[in-house]
Amino acid sequence: MKLIFLGSPGAGKGTQAAVLRERQDIAHISTGDILRENVKNSTPLGNKAREYMDSGKLVPDDLIIDMMEDRLARPDCAKGFILDGFPRTVPQAEALDLLLGRMGLELDGVILFEVPEELVVQRLTGRRICGQCGEIYNVRFKDTKVPGVCDRCGGVLQQRDDDKEEVVHRRLEVYEEQTAPLIDYYETKGNLVRVDASQDGDLVVKDIEKAVGKR
Ligand code: AMP
Repeated sequence: MKLIFLGSPGAGKGTQAAVLRERQDIAHISTGDILRENVKNSTPLGNKAREYMDSGKLVPDDLIIDMMEDRLARPDCAKGFILDGFPRTVPQAEALDLLLGRMGLELDGVILFEVPEELVVQRLTGRRICGQCGEIYNVRFKDTKVPGVCDRCGGVLQQRDDDKEEVVHRRLEVYEEQTAPLIDYYETKGNLVRVDASQDGDLVVKDIEKAVGKR
Protein backbone atom coordinates (compact mmCIF):
# COMPACT_ATOMS: atom_id res chain seq x y z
CA MET A 1 0.00 0.00 0.00
CA LYS A 2 1.48 3.35 -1.04
CA LEU A 3 -0.44 6.35 0.24
CA ILE A 4 -0.14 10.08 0.67
CA PHE A 5 -1.87 11.63 3.67
CA LEU A 6 -2.89 15.17 2.77
CA GLY A 7 -4.56 17.66 5.09
CA SER A 8 -3.90 20.67 7.27
CA PRO A 9 -1.64 20.50 10.31
CA GLY A 10 -3.64 19.00 13.18
CA ALA A 11 -5.90 16.96 10.90
CA GLY A 12 -4.70 13.74 12.56
CA LYS A 13 -2.47 12.45 9.73
CA GLY A 14 0.37 11.41 12.04
CA THR A 15 -1.93 9.66 14.52
CA GLN A 16 -3.73 7.67 11.84
CA ALA A 17 -0.49 6.88 10.00
CA ALA A 18 0.93 5.35 13.19
CA VAL A 19 -2.16 3.08 13.49
CA LEU A 20 -2.19 2.06 9.83
CA ARG A 21 1.53 1.38 9.86
CA GLU A 22 1.00 -1.27 12.54
CA ARG A 23 -2.07 -2.78 10.85
CA GLN A 24 -0.55 -2.93 7.36
CA ASP A 25 3.14 -3.37 8.26
CA ILE A 26 4.27 -0.50 6.05
CA ALA A 27 6.63 2.44 6.62
CA HIS A 28 5.33 5.70 8.09
CA ILE A 29 7.37 8.57 6.69
CA SER A 30 6.71 11.88 8.40
CA THR A 31 8.81 14.72 6.97
CA GLY A 32 8.09 16.75 10.11
CA ASP A 33 9.47 13.96 12.35
CA ILE A 34 12.58 13.52 10.17
CA LEU A 35 13.22 17.27 10.23
CA ARG A 36 12.68 17.53 14.01
CA GLU A 37 15.18 14.70 14.55
CA ASN A 38 17.70 16.55 12.36
CA VAL A 39 17.11 19.79 14.28
CA LYS A 40 17.57 17.97 17.60
CA ASN A 41 20.87 16.48 16.42
CA SER A 42 22.02 19.77 14.82
CA THR A 43 22.79 18.08 11.49
CA PRO A 44 23.52 20.35 8.49
CA LEU A 45 19.91 19.76 7.28
CA GLY A 46 18.53 20.45 10.77
CA ASN A 47 20.50 23.69 11.06
CA LYS A 48 19.12 24.89 7.72
CA ALA A 49 15.53 23.82 8.55
CA ARG A 50 15.27 25.14 12.14
CA GLU A 51 14.45 28.76 11.39
CA TYR A 52 11.72 27.91 8.88
CA MET A 53 10.11 25.40 11.22
CA ASP A 54 10.15 27.67 14.26
CA SER A 55 8.32 30.38 12.35
CA GLY A 56 5.76 27.99 10.82
CA LYS A 57 7.11 28.35 7.26
CA LEU A 58 7.90 25.53 4.86
CA VAL A 59 11.46 24.30 4.51
CA PRO A 60 12.72 24.92 0.91
CA ASP A 61 11.63 22.31 -1.64
CA ASP A 62 15.14 21.27 -2.74
CA LEU A 63 16.12 20.24 0.81
CA ILE A 64 12.90 18.25 1.26
CA ILE A 65 13.09 16.55 -2.12
CA ASP A 66 16.70 15.39 -1.54
CA MET A 67 15.74 14.14 1.92
CA MET A 68 12.80 12.15 0.52
CA GLU A 69 14.83 10.62 -2.31
CA ASP A 70 17.13 9.13 0.33
CA ARG A 71 14.25 8.06 2.57
CA LEU A 72 12.20 6.29 -0.12
CA ALA A 73 15.25 4.31 -1.22
CA ARG A 74 15.49 2.63 2.20
CA PRO A 75 14.53 -1.07 2.37
CA ASP A 76 11.63 -0.60 4.81
CA CYS A 77 9.68 1.14 2.03
CA ALA A 78 9.60 -1.98 -0.15
CA LYS A 79 6.33 -3.27 1.39
CA GLY A 80 4.63 0.10 1.09
CA PHE A 81 4.56 3.47 2.81
CA ILE A 82 2.48 6.36 4.05
CA LEU A 83 3.80 9.81 3.23
CA ASP A 84 2.70 12.09 6.06
CA GLY A 85 3.38 15.78 5.46
CA PHE A 86 4.88 15.31 2.00
CA PRO A 87 4.34 16.57 -0.65
CA ARG A 88 3.35 19.99 0.65
CA THR A 89 3.81 22.09 -2.50
CA VAL A 90 3.12 21.52 -6.19
CA PRO A 91 6.88 21.35 -7.03
CA GLN A 92 7.27 18.65 -4.35
CA ALA A 93 4.35 16.70 -5.87
CA GLU A 94 5.92 16.95 -9.33
CA ALA A 95 9.28 15.79 -7.96
CA LEU A 96 7.55 12.86 -6.25
CA ASP A 97 5.85 11.85 -9.52
CA LEU A 98 9.25 11.76 -11.23
CA LEU A 99 10.84 9.86 -8.37
CA LEU A 100 8.09 7.22 -8.21
CA GLY A 101 8.24 6.89 -12.00
CA ARG A 102 11.98 6.22 -11.83
CA MET A 103 11.38 3.65 -9.09
CA GLY A 104 8.58 1.99 -11.11
CA LEU A 105 6.04 2.63 -8.33
CA GLU A 106 2.47 3.91 -8.41
CA LEU A 107 0.43 5.46 -5.59
CA ASP A 108 -2.65 3.59 -4.35
CA GLY A 109 -4.32 6.78 -3.23
CA VAL A 110 -4.10 10.25 -1.75
CA ILE A 111 -6.19 10.54 1.39
CA LEU A 112 -7.49 14.02 2.14
CA PHE A 113 -8.17 14.51 5.87
CA GLU A 114 -11.07 16.97 6.12
CA VAL A 115 -11.50 18.78 9.48
CA PRO A 116 -13.06 22.16 10.39
CA GLU A 117 -10.46 24.82 11.19
CA GLU A 118 -11.70 25.49 14.79
CA LEU A 119 -11.10 21.83 15.66
CA VAL A 120 -7.64 21.89 14.11
CA VAL A 121 -6.68 24.93 16.22
CA GLN A 122 -7.94 23.20 19.39
CA ARG A 123 -6.07 20.02 18.53
CA LEU A 124 -2.78 21.77 17.77
CA THR A 125 -2.70 24.27 20.64
CA GLY A 126 -3.78 21.52 23.08
CA ARG A 127 -1.26 18.92 21.88
CA ARG A 128 1.43 17.82 24.35
CA ILE A 129 4.11 15.22 23.68
CA CYS A 130 6.04 13.13 26.19
CA GLY A 131 9.70 14.18 25.95
CA GLN A 132 10.74 10.66 26.93
CA CYS A 133 8.57 8.13 25.02
CA GLY A 134 6.88 10.35 22.41
CA GLU A 135 3.30 9.50 23.47
CA ILE A 136 0.88 12.20 22.28
CA TYR A 137 -1.78 13.77 24.56
CA ASN A 138 -4.13 16.69 24.34
CA VAL A 139 -5.08 18.92 27.27
CA ARG A 140 -8.59 19.27 25.80
CA PHE A 141 -9.34 15.82 24.41
CA LYS A 142 -6.97 13.30 25.99
CA ASP A 143 -5.28 14.64 29.10
CA THR A 144 -2.98 12.75 31.45
CA LYS A 145 -4.03 11.59 34.93
CA VAL A 146 -1.42 13.88 36.51
CA PRO A 147 -1.18 17.18 34.59
CA GLY A 148 2.05 17.46 32.60
CA VAL A 149 3.21 13.89 33.34
CA CYS A 150 3.07 11.01 30.86
CA ASP A 151 0.68 8.20 31.93
CA ARG A 152 2.82 5.61 30.17
CA CYS A 153 6.37 6.37 31.34
CA GLY A 154 6.21 9.27 33.81
CA GLY A 155 8.13 11.57 31.44
CA VAL A 156 7.55 15.32 31.34
CA LEU A 157 5.14 16.55 28.65
CA GLN A 158 6.29 19.22 26.22
CA GLN A 159 4.60 21.51 23.73
CA ARG A 160 6.11 21.83 20.25
CA ASP A 161 7.24 25.42 19.65
CA ASP A 162 5.21 25.49 16.45
CA ASP A 163 2.04 24.42 18.31
CA LYS A 164 1.94 27.79 20.12
CA GLU A 165 -1.11 29.76 19.03
CA GLU A 166 0.60 32.48 16.93
CA VAL A 167 2.63 29.93 14.95
CA VAL A 168 -0.40 27.65 14.49
CA HIS A 169 -2.25 30.43 12.62
CA ARG A 170 0.77 31.01 10.40
CA ARG A 171 1.00 27.25 9.63
CA LEU A 172 -2.67 27.17 8.66
CA GLU A 173 -2.17 30.16 6.31
CA VAL A 174 0.84 28.42 4.75
CA TYR A 175 -1.29 25.28 4.30
CA GLU A 176 -4.02 27.23 2.47
CA GLU A 177 -1.52 29.06 0.26
CA GLN A 178 0.97 26.33 -0.60
CA THR A 179 -0.48 22.91 0.18
CA ALA A 180 -4.23 23.18 -0.51
CA PRO A 181 -3.53 23.49 -4.30
CA LEU A 182 -2.49 19.82 -4.13
CA ILE A 183 -6.16 18.90 -3.63
CA ASP A 184 -6.87 19.94 -7.23
CA TYR A 185 -3.58 18.43 -8.40
CA TYR A 186 -4.53 14.95 -7.15
CA GLU A 187 -8.25 15.29 -7.88
CA THR A 188 -7.38 15.91 -11.53
CA LYS A 189 -5.22 12.79 -11.54
CA GLY A 190 -8.20 10.86 -10.12
CA ASN A 191 -6.58 9.45 -7.01
CA LEU A 192 -7.97 11.70 -4.25
CA VAL A 193 -10.10 10.14 -1.49
CA ARG A 194 -11.82 12.44 1.02
CA VAL A 195 -12.15 11.26 4.63
CA ASP A 196 -14.05 12.94 7.49
CA ALA A 197 -11.19 13.28 9.97
CA SER A 198 -13.25 15.03 12.64
CA GLN A 199 -14.84 11.71 13.64
CA ASP A 200 -13.44 9.22 16.12
CA GLY A 201 -9.96 7.87 15.23
CA ASP A 202 -11.12 4.23 14.82
CA LEU A 203 -13.68 5.29 12.25
CA VAL A 204 -11.12 7.33 10.31
CA VAL A 205 -8.82 4.30 9.94
CA LYS A 206 -11.75 2.12 8.83
CA ASP A 207 -12.81 4.70 6.25
CA ILE A 208 -9.27 4.87 4.86
CA GLU A 209 -8.95 1.09 4.58
CA LYS A 210 -12.38 0.79 2.99
CA ALA A 211 -11.64 3.54 0.46
CA VAL A 212 -8.23 2.16 -0.49
CA GLY A 213 -9.58 -1.40 -0.65
CA LYS A 214 -12.22 -0.34 -3.16
CA ARG A 215 -9.72 1.29 -5.51
P1 AMP B 1 4.61 18.72 10.59
O1 AMP B 1 5.11 17.94 11.74
O2 AMP B 1 4.25 17.89 9.40
O3 AMP B 1 3.50 19.68 10.95
O4 AMP B 1 5.83 19.65 10.10
C1 AMP B 1 6.45 20.59 10.94
C2 AMP B 1 7.22 21.60 10.12
O5 AMP B 1 8.24 20.92 9.35
C3 AMP B 1 6.41 22.36 9.07
O6 AMP B 1 5.74 23.48 9.63
C4 AMP B 1 7.50 22.78 8.09
O7 AMP B 1 8.28 23.83 8.59
C5 AMP B 1 8.40 21.53 8.07
N1 AMP B 1 7.98 20.57 7.04
C6 AMP B 1 7.48 19.31 7.23
N2 AMP B 1 7.23 18.70 6.06
C7 AMP B 1 7.56 19.61 5.09
C8 AMP B 1 7.53 19.58 3.67
N3 AMP B 1 7.07 18.52 2.99
N4 AMP B 1 7.96 20.69 3.01
C9 AMP B 1 8.43 21.76 3.66
N5 AMP B 1 8.48 21.86 5.00
C10 AMP B 1 8.06 20.79 5.72
